[in-house]
Amino acid sequence: MSAVDLQARTDRARRVMGDLGIDVLLLSVGADLPYLTGYEAMPLERLTMLVLPRDEAATLVVPRLEAPRVVEHPDVFALRPWAETEDPVAIVAGLAGPAASAAIGDRTWATFLIGLQLQLPSTRFRRASEVTTPLRIVKDAAEVKALAAAAAAADRVAAQLQGGEIALVGRSEADVSADISRRLVGEGHDKVNFAIVAAGENAASPHHHAGSRVINAGEVVLCDFGGTMAGYCSDITRCVSIGAPPSEVAEAYAVLFDAQARAVRSATVGTACQAVDAAARDVIADAGYGELFIHRTGHGIGMEEHEDPYIVSGNGLALAPGHAFSIEPGIYTPGRWGLRLEDIVVATESGPQALNTADHHLVVVDR
Ligand code: ZN
Ligand code: ZN
Ligand code: ZN
Repeated sequence: MSAVDLQARTDRARRVMGDLGIDVLLLSVGADLPYLTGYEAMPLERLTMLVLPRDEAATLVVPRLEAPRVVEHPDVFALRPWAETEDPVAIVAGLAGPAASAAIGDRTWATFLIGLQLQLPSTRFRRASEVTTPLRIVKDAAEVKALAAAAAAADRVAAQLQGGEIALVGRSEADVSADISRRLVGEGHDKVNFAIVAAGENAASPHHHAGSRVINAGEVVLCDFGGTMAGYCSDITRCVSIGAPPSEVAEAYAVLFDAQARAVRSATVGTACQAVDAAARDVIADAGYGELFIHRTGHGIGMEEHEDPYIVSGNGLALAPGHAFSIEPGIYTPGRWGLRLEDIVVATESGPQALNTADHHLVVVDR
C-alpha cells in the first residue's frame, strides 16, 4: 500500500468524520488500522493506537519495542513510540485533546476504552465503524484483484478436493482439515483462518469444529475453508460425496445449487442485500427446505472474513460497485447431513462477478 493510497484513505476518513461531526478517530487492533496506515497492531496489553484528528496531523502511538515493525509514512502519520514506564492511555488522551466526539475502533479492548473514558470525561465515544465501514465496504481495483487472487488460490485447493487428490476415507476430519490448511498455504495464503471439515451428520452444524471423527465411504463431506493472502481473505465451501450420494441428498443439493446460482445472478448493482438473501431463500423454501436454511445467505469479505455488507433479511442496503460478499446458502438436516455452497462475489457495473469458479456440483470422489 503506497503512501499516496493511504493518504487518500485518510482524507476520505476525515471527510466522513466531518459529515458525522467526529473530532478524532482512535484505531487499535482490527482491520481499520492497517487499512489506513498499512500497520497491523499486535493484540497486546501494550496499547497501539492511531490518533487521527479531523483537522490535525495523525499520530501512531506504539509500544517502543513494536516501533521497528512500523513502515513509516511521515506524510500520513507521525510515530510516537512509548517507553515501558509511560502511560499510553494518557499519551492518546493528550493527543486526542478535549474532543467532544471521538470514534474508537470497534475491536479496541474494553480496558483501553474505559481508561480513555476516565481521562476524557467530556468526550462522547462512538464506533469507528461509522467512519470506516463506508470506506472499507467499497473495494477499489487493487483490493478486488487481491480478493480474486485469494479466491483463485482457494479454488485450486477445492479442485484438489474434488479431483480426489485429498484422501478422505479412513482419515479424521481434523487430519483432512490440516491437509487443506497446508494446501492453502502451499497455494499462496499467508495464513489459514479456518478449515471446516464436517462429515455426514456433523455437516448439519454450519460451523462444526473438525475433530477426531473418522470419515467413511458413502458419506457427504462439507469443506468450508479460507485464509488471508496479501491482506485479503478467501472463503469457499464445497461438498463432495464419497461414492454416489443418497437420492435424498442429491435432490436437496440440486435445490441448493439452483438457489446459490440464482442469488449470485441477482446480486446486481442497486439490488438490496435482503433481496439477494431472498433470491436464495425463496428457491429453498419453495422446495420445502425453508426450515432447514438456518443462517443468512452471506457476509461481506475483505481484510476481514466477515464484514459489511451482510446479505441478510432486513438489510435494505443497495449493492454498489466494489461491494464484495459471500453467497452461501445451506440446507441442514440435524443428526443426518448438511450441505452448503459458497462463492465470493463482487458487484460491478457489468453485473455480479463470481471470484470462485471451482465446480459447483456435488462432485463424487472415490476415496
Ligand atoms: Zn461462517
Ligand atoms: Zn465459508
Ligand atoms: Zn463465508
